[in-house]
Amino acid sequence: MSFLTHLECPKCGAAYDPSQVVNLCACGSPLLARYDLERLARAVTKEDLVGRRADLWRYWEFLPLERKENIVSLGEGFTPILRAPNLGRELRLKHLYIKDEGLNPTGTFKARGAAVGVSKAKELGIKKIALPTAGNAGGAWSAFGVKAGMEMIIAMPQDAPDLAKKECIVTGATTYLVEGLISDAGQIIARGVKEYGWFEASTLKEPYRIEGKKTMGLEIAEQFNWELPDAVLYPTGGGVGIIGIWKALNELKEIGWIEGPMPKLISVQAEGCAPIVKAFAEGKKESEFWHGARTIAGGIRVPKALGDFLVLEAVYSTKGTAVSVSDAEIMEALKLVARTEGMFICPEGAATVAAAKKLRDSGFLGEDERVVLLNTGSGLKYPELVEIRLPIIKGLQGA
Ligand SMILES: *Cc1c(COP(=O)(O)O)cnc(C)c1O
Ligand SMILES: [Zn+2]
Repeated sequence: MSFLTHLECPKCGAAYDPSQVVNLCACGSPLLARYDLERLARAVTKEDLVGRRADLWRYWEFLPLERKENIVSLGEGFTPILRAPNLGRELRLKHLYIKDEGLNPTGTFKARGAAVGVSKAKELGIKKIALPTAGNAGGAWSAFGVKAGMEMIIAMPQDAPDLAKKECIVTGATTYLVEGLISDAGQIIARGVKEYGWFEASTLKEPYRIEGKKTMGLEIAEQFNWELPDAVLYPTGGGVGIIGIWKALNELKEIGWIEGPMPKLISVQAEGCAPIVKAFAEGKKESEFWHGARTIAGGIRVPKALGDFLVLEAVYSTKGTAVSVSDAEIMEALKLVARTEGMFICPEGAATVAAAKKLRDSGFLGEDERVVLLNTGSGLKYPELVEIRLPIIKGLQGA
């Protein structure tokens, strides 16, 4: 069923056979899935999508599976793009939208990457998957992995959110807590991969997670009726989502389903961990390792992304920008969204709200532009962020 032809290295151009298990290119770069888009365009039209299943598998022609029976699904994707007029009034943006990824299984958009990554791994006959995570990817991959009957090995920072740890524990994943950051957890996993032959599904070290996240771009195009918005703001950690959206839009452009300028892709990071923003400000093509990374938005606490050069290319080539916000601004934005739109969003998503405010103030975003914020997860996954300070009322019994 697939139109997948090969895996391609965006750095050196080398091609790999997708029927084999591959991680990185020999040159060290991540690999990107390439499709026979001409044949794909003859096989499917926009109209064909109407009435298909309301999850990301509605786009199966754009996905890498050969056989539908290998699909491992928990209902991921096809999340709503909600208008946010009350928040828009506060930010002076007349056409503001939030794509709510918090409605995905396991509460974050990590479910997209896990669904496609695990499904393809199943198709390739993989039985044991290992990955480091800041928390949410662990929850998502262990859920899909277990459903596929695989053994999952997860390593995460010891200070990752409790809920993410519990998701891994409850699904029976072998779970390791590691001193330090996701990069330290990554080193532990890399050692295990070498010693025990696990399949490594670290961010961008396998080529299909990004194909799952790409569906956010397909959905943005379809949900806007193929008339793209002017800007998309994305909270960037490993950058898979923003690279994926950019890849999807390029594929759609190539088959003629969308035209005109691309939305400005805007990479948002936290002030305490902003390697992409720094590289962008310096006009560089790659980022440097960010020492002492700190932010309450754990999903974007990634000191050095393997795909940083692709994130920067997406931003440069769409005339986007990269901007950082403080943890205080994130918390303020999180409360503002809850109080105006009734949505308890995650701190990473809140970072895009704070960034939109900054970019509106600076004039980078115009009042009439159609702006989409990616809320990458549910605030329900971060209960520790909200303090409870309420009086206790005595019961009336015996009064
Ligand atoms: C992982 C994560 C991010 C960052 O995603 P990338 O695609 O790796 O940049 C953002 N928000 C949340 C909630 C996450 O879990
Ligand atoms: Zn290469």
